[in-house]
Amino acid sequence: MSSDLPQFIVDFMLGKLARNLRLLGYDAEYIRHFNRIDLLTRLLEEERILLTRSHSFPKREDIYILETDNHLEQTKEVVRVFNLSPEPFTRCAVCNFPIVKVKKAEIVGNVPDYVFKTQDEFSKCINCGRIYWKGTHYKRIVRFIDEVIG
Ligand SMILES: [Zn+2]
Repeated sequence: MSSDLPQFIVDFMLGKLARNLRLLGYDAEYIRHFNRIDLLTRLLEEERILLTRSHSFPKREDIYILETDNHLEQTKEVVRVFNLSPEPFTRCAVCNFPIVKVKKAEIVGNVPDYVFKTQDEFSKCINCGRIYWKGTHYKRIVRFIDEVIG
């Protein structure tokens, strides 16, 4: 196994967990509709780990059944069980692709004027183009990370 961070597939019931994991920088693909056979095949092919609350899956090393329904507790559980060190602000919370730093000049007209005037560091999702900056949500996310990694 490589030293890369584990990559997850998150069961359709657990959308908030998927988002939380992305905020912490983990590859967490969220699956709404799936064929069970296809899913189990993908886990093997891509060496992903399924996070689920369902006890109906077969017992396998790449299927992890979470203990709680609370998304914050689930996030803490995943960080603990998989021994992860967060790399926050590296992944798009919306689509799960990496975000990369971009020059301020590149995002002219793509963020609100107030944001452009008051912020200097911007990152952009390589897939959906969503732009991230350390604005209003930033402090909330930092608090969230503190809480999760305690
Ligand atoms: Zn994106």
